[in-house]
Amino acid sequence: MWNGNVDRRPALIARCTDAADVQKVVRFAGQHGLLLSVRGGGHSAPGYGTNDAGLVIDLSSMKAISVDAGRRIARAEGGVLWRELDSQTQVHGLATTGGTVSNTGIAGLTLGGGLGWLMGKHGLTIDNLLSADVVTADGQLRRASVAENPDLFWAIRGGGGNFGVVTAFEYTLHPVSQVLGGMLLYPLDQAVEVLRFYRDFCPTLPDEAEANAGLLTTPDGLPVAALLLGYNGPIDEGERVLAPARRFGKPIADLVGPMPYAARQSMIDAPNAQHGLHRYWRSAFTETISDGLIDAAVASAGTFSSPLSALLFFYMHGAGTRVPVDKTAFAARRAQWDFDAIGQWVDGQESDGHIAWIRQIWSKFDPHLQGHAYINHIAADDQPEKVRASFGKNYARLRESKKMFDPGNLFRMNANIAPA
Ligand SMILES: Cc1cc2nc3c(=O)[nH]c(=O)nc-3n(C[C@H](O)[C@H](O)[C@H](O)COP(=O)(O)OP(=O)(O)OC[C@H]3O[C@@H](n4cnc5c(N)ncnc54)[C@H](O)[C@@H]3O)c2cc1C
Repeated sequence: MWNGNVDRRPALIARCTDAADVQKVVRFAGQHGLLLSVRGGGHSAPGYGTNDAGLVIDLSSMKAISVDAGRRIARAEGGVLWRELDSQTQVHGLATTGGTVSNTGIAGLTLGGGLGWLMGKHGLTIDNLLSADVVTADGQLRRASVAENPDLFWAIRGGGGNFGVVTAFEYTLHPVSQVLGGMLLYPLDQAVEVLRFYRDFCPTLPDEAEANAGLLTTPDGLPVAALLLGYNGPIDEGERVLAPARRFGKPIADLVGPMPYAARQSMIDAPNAQHGLHRYWRSAFTETISDGLIDAAVASAGTFSSPLSALLFFYMHGAGTRVPVDKTAFAARRAQWDFDAIGQWVDGQESDGHIAWIRQIWSKFDPHLQGHAYINHIAADDQPEKVRASFGKNYARLRESKKMFDPGNLFRMNANIAPA
């Protein structure tokens, strides 16, 4: 598992190689009343891809990818990681919206919605999903698309792994090759001004631009504020759009420049992609970055309990926010920031202290947040009300869909939806 702090011992791991394998295992789990986990890329921070004493469907052998460059469509199996899909689509100068770290699984990320560098211009990952092959709790393999099983297709676009095991996804692709990307780094004593500038800069951006911000520690131990900028369009146009940020304050490094899309996809891999580090993660969506939130974040960044930990603001805007709320299960269709407190440390003996530190700083952020989150970032100890609030207006219909496709809640190792 990506999160080394998840140390569990399932009774049985089924290393499935095709959809027929998955069907057999789902039926077996249902017949024997076993606790069932589904592992795609293994990046769930709470460790939903495994369990104690139950059964795991491990999709990591299901890696087939095919690209139809003429029709701009890619088909990928449920065990594929983003870097594996990108490497195949980039051969043709194509890509779809994927995650910001290259070894996250396409499966879990897509089913929760899919926030990534390209979302401003091309929408969320689910907005690019054409169809999925899903093994539902009754062991049936169903094709879900706008034309086939539309209720299932609606539910899996934002409802997470609640409705079945997706054995293959089909995505629409877009021309993407050279992009503008990189970071500006500022010393922590400029962080308050940088984050206030950032908050006001984001709403001015066109769909092609991306702007994220972080408080983190450089590999040589310097606490910094970082602006992570990008532009998915003509490079000279991007230079013009991002210029106000690059002129702001006194950065100690300006690492923004043209790069291949695949390089941007792995730009923040270290240390975030590394499997086995210990982690604890809290998160919320917020439509405003108040002065109080900035002050609390900057004060916390001065006391990081581990140099690998970080506070991050990911800005969601553009095409993904213009899709009607009821078109898919993903309810958070508005311009806002995904705010994350990511605790990462090396020594498992120190876990209690690092987890307590994240909980303590989060209690200072909470009064400035609105109580809902990206469902792929909900922590295991978040309250059920937060899960419900995060599905928003779509929660009632999701409960009906759950009743239709998984009435016994076989798929419950996730941001769980109670059947109606
Ligand atoms: C370092 C890091 C960076 C991230 N960056 C982003 C980002 O940029 N954008 C973003 O949107 N999210 C991001 N995420 C969150 C990520 O989307 C979720 O953690 C996601 O659930 C990971 O999917 P996975 O398949 O790797 O995980 P897993 O741990 O394998 O599974 C996660 C969940 O999905 C279910 N699941 C997995 N595969 C299937 C399947 N084939 N069918 C049905 N259910 C399945 C599992 O049962 C579990 O509930 C990031 C996570 C990490 C750890």
